[in-house]
Amino acid sequence: MRNEGLGSWPARRARKTPHRTALIHGETAISYAELYTRTTRLAHALRARGLRRGDRIAYLGPNHPSFLETLFAAGTLGAVFVPLNTRLAGPEIAYQLSDSGAKILVYGPSHAGLVAGLPGSTDVRTYLEVGAEYEATLAEAPDEPIDEPVAADDTCLILYTSGTTGRPKGAMLSHANATWNAVNFLIDKDLHADERALVSAPLFHIAGLTVLTLPVLLKGGTCVLVEAFDPGDTLDLVAQHRITYMFGVPAMFEQIARHPRWPEADLSSLRMLSCGGAPVPTPLIEAYQARGLTFLQGYGMTEALGVCFLDGEHSVSKAGSAGVPHFFADVRVLRPDLTPADAGENGEVVVRGPAVMSGYWGLPEETAASFVDGWFRTGDAARVDEDGYVFIVDRIKDMIISGGENIYPAEIEDLLLAHPDIAECAVIGVPDDKWGEVPRAVVVPREGAALDPDEVLASLSGRLAKYKIPKTVVLAEELPRTASGKLLKSRVRTRYGNQ
Ligand code: ATP
Ligand code: MG
Repeated sequence: MRNEGLGSWPARRARKTPHRTALIHGETAISYAELYTRTTRLAHALRARGLRRGDRIAYLGPNHPSFLETLFAAGTLGAVFVPLNTRLAGPEIAYQLSDSGAKILVYGPSHAGLVAGLPGSTDVRTYLEVGAEYEATLAEAPDEPIDEPVAADDTCLILYTSGTTGRPKGAMLSHANATWNAVNFLIDKDLHADERALVSAPLFHIAGLTVLTLPVLLKGGTCVLVEAFDPGDTLDLVAQHRITYMFGVPAMFEQIARHPRWPEADLSSLRMLSCGGAPVPTPLIEAYQARGLTFLQGYGMTEALGVCFLDGEHSVSKAGSAGVPHFFADVRVLRPDLTPADAGENGEVVVRGPAVMSGYWGLPEETAASFVDGWFRTGDAARVDEDGYVFIVDRIKDMIISGGENIYPAEIEDLLLAHPDIAECAVIGVPDDKWGEVPRAVVVPREGAALDPDEVLASLSGRLAKYKIPKTVVLAEELPRTASGKLLKSRVRTRYGNQ
């Protein structure tokens, strides 16, 4: 095969394990042989509509087999797949379509209204709706093998960052990046060929696609695709499909453990729980441990995919850590002058390895600024302990400098969140004549709780250095978040920084 990329995976899998089930969605099961045929037909259809090597094709819709078929069909032709965040509003979708220059848009029926309202100014000339139109397109297309040359270093994906610190940026990821990342997970997670993964995390973010689905498909396991996360449905699906492996952010696992059916739910098939995006709180680890389940934890980002990994064995002894770097990823922590930090010293995480992106699509200046000597600058502050375990501290952009001391808001937020009457919080820096900046806590009280700002501050005293204790507490009804639930600190600063 002249295709060294992701586009060749269905053919390679169909050669090895044609009858195994690749994807399940509702009542539909698709074997690897069928996935190969469907992908080949789609690639023919897309080529007939003008899609060529290097062209972009976007996808907008919830988790569905057509998402992966479009990814693999694009890869068959050497085209670039651009998954869009289904929670974005029309103008944001229009921006990403224009920014990526996508020629074709495949979309789910749930987004037909949004798509109909898109401006004509994008480069999209072909729209394909999942469902009857998509199936008819496949049925009409030939299924002769396509053997286009595609190099491992060709871009296969433009994946947009979550937009937590600014406008989402399109990370250009190659076939090699995605493959080496999957290899890292196969090494660290010991995936089996009979793995049955529950994919309820959205496929348009790295977690759903590159942490969960691609490694499982590379190994020949089965992915059960779910359109939206629901804790009760999750318990049912785990029992129904004998799920062995699932991924979630800590909040999803919290909801599952609090569900009324949790005590009697059949979880006997589960072998691996994978959690990322934030450290897993110890009480949560213990609740799952009582059911014989441990968490695998990860740290990563759109630009570098999976970076660090904490195995279940160390989830308590190294609680709060994101683990050690994956086999094929190197991590360093640098001081502001770019010299290496000592063990235990906070600095910026930089990453190098075969899964790191080549750059941001259409943003040469941002790309240049985000690499130093071939290392990607993550913008995250962390320290590494004497055993080599990485502890993510906070984002550097969110750091507060008060009287020459660095304050990481996350440390204060963790303590505030342990307060029984606080539901959500954000700590920001506000200008101060004497200290330059001082911390301010913006807190959302739990429903029905009468929160006293002075009592909140008193609860911190003795537990934090004095300069880290917020000077003011502001009560808020809710905090601005991204579509995926991440706190938008910049908006918190504009809204609550000047009061
Ligand atoms: P943008 O780059 O557009 O501002 P974003 O950084 O939130 O958005 P993603 O690539 O989805 O976009 O998220 C990666 C970031 O998430 C990391 O850089 C880090 O700040 C945070 N993160 C990921 N995993 C963990 C973890 N285990 N612990 C703490 N933070 C994490
Ligand atoms: Mg980022």
